[in-house]
Amino acid sequence: MLRDDCIFCRIAAGEIPSETVYEDEYFKAILDLAPAAKGHTLILPKAHYQDVTELEEPHASRVLPLAAKIGQAMKKGLGCDGFNLLQNNGEAAGQTVFHFHMHVIPRVADETEALLVWEPGSASKEEMAETGSRIREGFAE
Ligand code: AMP
Ligand code: ZN
Repeated sequence: MLRDDCIFCRIAAGEIPSETVYEDEYFKAILDLAPAAKGHTLILPKAHYQDVTELEEPHASRVLPLAAKIGQAMKKGLGCDGFNLLQNNGEAAGQTVFHFHMHVIPRVADETEALLVWEPGSASKEEMAETGSRIREGFAE
């Protein structure tokens, strides 16, 4: 379940200290050491899954409701106006710790510095049809 060579397993197990904002039998939620915004929190399952493609019960169905609960607590406790949920899968997607985690990032109105934004791109109807069909093919066994 938990791995000795995984830093988030060791944090989730309480072997490495962290600023914990929430804990139950399934998860520990801790403050990120290099926060994108004040209160940036990471939800860590107390079981090792590399990324979302490995995530299973009892954690899979609970992580999103927990993220919502933590976001609400941030709004009340920190007075933020909203929050982003972010979850990276694979090095190409920016994942640096290979133990599934969900980022919960508080956001304050009028603090408009770019966070989690991208330059809107473009795609022709034909390209969208081709792209859509390639993803649909990816569902095949
Ligand atoms: P990701 O890029 O999605 O894999 O996110 C990994 C996050 O973990 C980064 O935001 C890091 O700042 C954070 N992080 C890495 N090590 C620790 C640690 N020991 N305690 C708290 N946050 C950490
Ligand atoms: Zn782990």
